[in-house]
Amino acid sequence: MNASARPTPAYEIHDHTYDVVVVGAGGAGMRAVLGCAQAGLRTACITKVFPTRSHTVAAQGGMSAALGNMSSDEWRWHMFDTIKGSDWLGDQDAIEYLCRNAPAAVYELEHWGVPFSRTEAGRIYQRPFGGMTTEYGEGGPAQRTCAAADRTGHAILHTLYGQCVKHKSEFFIEYFALDLIMDEEGQCRGVIAMRMDDGTIHRFRGHMTILATGGYGRAYFSCTSAHTCTGDGGGMVLRAGLPLQDMEFVQFHPSGIYGAGCLITEGARGEGGYLTNSEGERFMERYAPHAKDLASRDVVSRAMTIEIREGRGVGKLNDHIMLHLEHLDPEVLHERLPGISESARIFSGVDVTREPIPVLPTVHYNMGGIPTNYHGEVVTKRNGDPDFVVPGLMALGEGACVSVHGANRLGSNSLTDLIVFGRAAGQRCADIIKPGSPQPELPAGAVEKSLGRLDRLRHANGGTPTAELRLRMQRTMQSNCAVFRTGEVLKEGQELIHEVWAASDDIKVTDRSLVWNSDLIETLEFDNLIGQAVVTVESALNREESRGAHAREDFPDRDDLHWMKHSLASADPEARTVSIDYRPVHSYTLTDEVQYIEPRKRVY
Ligand SMILES: Cc1cc2nc3c(=O)[nH]c(=O)nc-3n(C[C@H](O)[C@H](O)[C@H](O)COP(=O)(O)OP(=O)(O)OC[C@H]3O[C@@H](n4cnc5c(N)ncnc54)[C@H](O)[C@@H]3O)c2cc1C
Repeated sequence: MNASARPTPAYEIHDHTYDVVVVGAGGAGMRAVLGCAQAGLRTACITKVFPTRSHTVAAQGGMSAALGNMSSDEWRWHMFDTIKGSDWLGDQDAIEYLCRNAPAAVYELEHWGVPFSRTEAGRIYQRPFGGMTTEYGEGGPAQRTCAAADRTGHAILHTLYGQCVKHKSEFFIEYFALDLIMDEEGQCRGVIAMRMDDGTIHRFRGHMTILATGGYGRAYFSCTSAHTCTGDGGGMVLRAGLPLQDMEFVQFHPSGIYGAGCLITEGARGEGGYLTNSEGERFMERYAPHAKDLASRDVVSRAMTIEIREGRGVGKLNDHIMLHLEHLDPEVLHERLPGISESARIFSGVDVTREPIPVLPTVHYNMGGIPTNYHGEVVTKRNGDPDFVVPGLMALGEGACVSVHGANRLGSNSLTDLIVFGRAAGQRCADIIKPGSPQPELPAGAVEKSLGRLDRLRHANGGTPTAELRLRMQRTMQSNCAVFRTGEVLKEGQELIHEVWAASDDIKVTDRSLVWNSDLIETLEFDNLIGQAVVTVESALNREESRGAHAREDFPDRDDLHWMKHSLASADPEARTVSIDYRPVHSYTLTDEVQYIEPRKRVY
């Protein structure tokens, strides 16, 4: 029988009602869960992995906040750096909110028990990070990044989980969220999920659904993110007919370990590490005379790529760069960078006290995602309103696009984003939801479409295994939507990625069972990834300028006149088409305590 003609399956369905349903237990999801639970809202947290295994656990370098513990600092300087880092694509009201609230967010974590590293005087230790400066870029580097050695995400995530449990939030662990439940008015009413150990279906009804599902780095072949980073929230949003924003902006981190892709934190350069080419030259001095090795990530990744292209790469294949830490005091390495010292040993056989680490720019972060305002509410363009709030739906963390990172995120601003906006979302929910207030029944037929998709994929009996399609997608993204882009390469990428999308009709899943069916889960994840891969390539081809992480060799300049706007990309998974629209960048601040910062040419 043709799989798509199969009658609606008889899955066992369980219903749950909560005030708030959060999908994702990374830093963003758990911070929101905690805020909601503290406000007395019944809160469910659905997560496909155990909470402390979310990718946030891997965050190394730290979390930015202008505490001024090492030397004088101000949130206004942090705001300036973030706007400049975003290459003027960030929304300045949201950036003001981020930087202003970052110190309070850090202290709150400290009080909950995050074991931050300390200065001699017992204050939270802060290290320099790329793009973080003082005096509106006129002073020296700022020491603004709060760190718990090089395991900051680990410390934050474990503390948050403990606090969530203490506040009686309810976790649904190893439940895979499939789709949003949207009603006819376009309001989100909850989410449908599959319990992974027995295949039962669970409908979660909530006044608010919060997507905190992380990035989609796994659309690429080589990335620093976990295998679970498949952008499931973005996939759900596209299927709900809502757009994703600024998807062309994909950050490459300068120091992925050559061959393995695992991350060596930028904190390594913050502590004094530097890069060299095959001639032993500290080449960053040429590209960014001022910031050198601590220029922002887009700048360093491009410089490394140029060095390699021009034949000054290291190794037999002249295809990588060296990161030196061996001149640093072994005590410092032991105390502040123990995790990366271990990663370097395991993944490249290097003793960092004696030899340099071979590194390569590697996909690290998605600036684009589900568009939101600074309360975390999902926005879309409707009836001429570019900031129309989609009722009942929020998005947070790497899966969202607030947009504070604009065209390029500064290192250590993501953890801040998770905690500041996770907190804001909790506050918003507390303001607008009355705990325990009644909820209307779910719309009739709310889940059939989603179950139809699940059943179609579970019984898919084509000729191409999921792993093969995934590899084709990853290779296409890696070679056709990378650090440097041209219209020609992107056009080829567009064709290739559409071919993969179309070939999804021929997908083959071998396991039909419902108990720990990893073949099915990977297929659902692939389906989420491919939608986002397609809109990423389409948005990149569409944007004819260079800004932040989006470097078009055929359009090398930033073009504020035509392109200082957010891209909005929607996809129709059935017709396999993409449409692109725009939202204006918020060129105003939140309060009149700071002025809008006019676009400037970037000087490094
Ligand atoms: C190696 C590495 C190091 C980094 N270091 C830093 C750093 O030092 N400083 C910094 O600021 N940033 C850093 N970043 C970036 C930052 O860590 C991430 O952007 C951030 O942690 C993402 O958090 P999140 O809460 O959005 O999602 P994640 O932590 O990725 O969590 C996603 C959650 O969603 C759940 N989920 C996803 N899909 C589903 C589904 N279908 N059903 C149910 N649950 C689902 C997962 O189970 C998980 O709980 C680093 C990133 C990496 C990869």
